[in-house]
Amino acid sequence: QPVISFRKVSKIYQNGTVGLKDIELDIQAGEFVVIVGLSGAGKSTLLRTINKMHEISSGELLVNGVSLAPLRGKKLRALRREIGMIFQNFNLVKRVSVQRNVLSGRVGYYPTWKSVLGLFNPADKKRAVAALQRVNLAEKIYARADELSGGQQQRVAVARAFMQQPRIILADEPVASLDPLTTTAVMDDLKNLNQEFKITTIVNLHSVPLALKYADRIIGLRAGRLVYNKPIDQVATQD
Ligand code: ADP
Ligand code: ADP
Repeated sequence: QPVISFRKVSKIYQNGTVGLKDIELDIQAGEFVVIVGLSGAGKSTLLRTINKMHEISSGELLVNGVSLAPLRGKKLRALRREIGMIFQNFNLVKRVSVQRNVLSGRVGYYPTWKSVLGLFNPADKKRAVAALQRVNLAEKIYARADELSGGQQQRVAVARAFMQQPRIILADEPVASLDPLTTTAVMDDLKNLNQEFKITTIVNLHSVPLALKYADRIIGLRAGRLVYNKPIDQVATQD
């Protein structure tokens, strides 16, 4: 059974803009999928339907065999806990420590009163250190998030996502604002988590060479439509 299944999914925004049109797509457990396409092609819309940040307009979208349409409340929160999100602009809380940012992955998007007060248990703190070690930033644990470089901030965001113990990671243009060296560091971190923990990973990228380097499968979108879908070993040079 695919982890994520799009069945004739369309997304029309309120103003009539087509975000996605008739998407048919299955993503298998543990795959590292890269979505490429020009700006406005629907990459971000596609990612955001998977954790129901955006609702689809028609068709059916299933995660772990469960249709997202009726999910609300507790069940929706449970779904989102299984899905780590990484954004182009890092989305860290700038004025608090790296540690607090990473720990927030544990309690998720819906904070508890304890987490709001900064009360985390020692086991969680240990996990935060381990997560930061994975992205080679353990020495920055007490730094304020906005004291870090862009590449370091994005690696904190990767550690935060990992802290959630997610089954799926969705990364929306994670390296669009990074230089080549830090781009490699962030992509390597994502790939390592994918391979070691079989975390199904979907990454939106502008760069085809990067897609070729990291993807198990490349998906192409144009004007909301799926126009390309091939495993990496079937990607031809003339494509
Ligand atoms: P990409 O991530 O590939 O750049 P997006 O998914 O952001 O593409 O956008 C797909 C299309 O949907 C674009 O035409 C964009 O302008 C439009 N769009 C995105 N978000 C909204 C929104 N909240 N309201 C209306 N249109 C939107
Ligand atoms: P919006 O319509 O502005 O995206 P939301 O309430 O859906 O409003 O989300 C607000 C912000 O919270 C998002 O921009 C994103 O940064 C963050 N967010 C939403 N859902 C998640 C999630 N599942 N995981 C991590 N961050 C999330």
